[in-house]
Amino acid sequence: MEPLRYTRARDLEHALQAGAEGGRFIAGGTTLVDLMKLGVEQPGHVVDINDLPLDRIEPLPGGGLRIGALARNADLARHPAVRRDYAALAQALESGASPQLRNMATTGGNLMQRTRCGYFRDVAMPCNKREPGSGCAALAGHHRMLAVLGTSEHCIASHPSDMSVALAALDARVGIAGRQGERQVPVAGFFLLPGDTPQRETVLQQGELITHVELPPPPPGSRSVYVKLRDRASYEFALASAAVCLSLEHGTVGHLRVALGGVGTRPWRAHETEQALAGQAPDEARLAAAARAALREARPLAGNAFKVELARRCIAHALRLTAAAAES
Ligand code: SF4
Repeated sequence: MEPLRYTRARDLEHALQAGAEGGRFIAGGTTLVDLMKLGVEQPGHVVDINDLPLDRIEPLPGGGLRIGALARNADLARHPAVRRDYAALAQALESGASPQLRNMATTGGNLMQRTRCGYFRDVAMPCNKREPGSGCAALAGHHRMLAVLGTSEHCIASHPSDMSVALAALDARVGIAGRQGERQVPVAGFFLLPGDTPQRETVLQQGELITHVELPPPPPGSRSVYVKLRDRASYEFALASAAVCLSLEHGTVGHLRVALGGVGTRPWRAHETEQALAGQAPDEARLAAAARAALREARPLAGNAFKVELARRCIAHALRLTAAAAES
């Protein structure tokens, strides 16, 4: 039994004070409690933020949507504005976890999900992310589920979140509060590459708390889609996924954002695909070439080399679906 201090935050100031003193925030608990049971996480102090007024999903004055960090994944997925304007987000949320987990998991917690790398979750194995400097058992071990983009010699863990991939394609921004004030960062820049410090996963500083996510208004005429490929149809993480937000102007690609899941060490913006298709008619040959471009820098290992072709097909399919929707 590990001793544990528990604080129920009365308000944001109370939460930030407890966070600055080293407390770990907990909301739905679907990641942290899981990892505490495995001995991977052993916080001495948890700060329960469920009483904070951060669960609202509301329109922004200039258009767009403000999603409170405590909005539950299930509530966000079925919100009418999300289903109408941000289909990729609803699809990504509904493709993740199980109904029970989606009822508990929060928007902020989803962003803070930790990798499902089996060695990270097994305290008997070396893992640079869990124990810096101990090594990476996945490099010569089982890495079928792990990343081919953004990897380093210290860590190849894939990012597990579907929601974050959709948010990256929708140009979302993450609202953060700390004792020093508030700030916003684009969701794509919220996550760090592993480099030689894989234990650092986001730009959050000690004691900072995600308060909300902001979505800009959808670009005129745009449609968005999330495609997820996995070993079974539900309750499974992505082998490869693609979120696309696209508009057409006179038959050529206007606005385009593409983000990938399952293949990157963080939700992965496919800038190469976007550049390859800008101003082009989205015919089959161009879609295939643009999908190939996204994986140009892939560094697969023997056990996950199949992901390169899988991701290409996933991107091409998502682009095809989105272009057809934007045409209609
Ligand atoms: Fe740990 Fe990353 Fe290696 Fe997995 S891939 S064992 S998380 S260092």
